Amino acid sequence: MTVEYESQGLPLDAYQLSRADHRRQGEAEDIAAWVERQLAKAPPWSEERFRQLQELLGSHATPPPWEYMRWRVRLYCRHVQEVERHCRETRPDMGARDKCCSECGKNPAVIVAFEVIGPAAEPPAPPREKSRNTVSRGGRVGRRTKAELEAEDSELRVEVERLHRTVAE
Ligand SMILES: [Zn+2]
Repeated sequence: MTVEYESQGLPLDAYQLSRADHRRQGEAEDIAAWVERQLAKAPPWSEERFRQLQELLGSHATPPPWEYMRWRVRLYCRHVQEVERHCRETRPDMGARDKCCSECGKNPAVIVAFEVIGPAAEPPAPPREKSRNTVSRGGRVGRRTKAELEAEDSELRVEVERLHRTVAE
């Protein structure tokens, strides 16, 4: 399988924001504010609920690091950062995953320009001995943290809200 990776707005350092960028950033801020209001209303997660969800997701293996591509992205706030996306995604700005800028703290900050760098990790050499199931690198393999689960939960809520709006229009 060959994936054609897209690029946009190169060179990143000279990119000028477009009207569409301002609009997308505005939408992302609206959605983030909406999610915050919803979360403020929602009851806090019980330990029981967290444990159940963790069990559910624990049986669902997260892809290994070598299935990720690294991207250099320019955020709305002008900072250039690196992100990782699954190798099947042809561009890094799909889905409801606006970044928080780790340099200036702008949150959310939409991706306005990007270019692919390369694989996040080399695939392991084929094992000489029978020890295949000892792969565990970094924090990505294994159980997710409560913060990650809560972030996913809020992303789902955003999707639901979008669908509601689409239906209402
Ligand atoms: Zn920034």
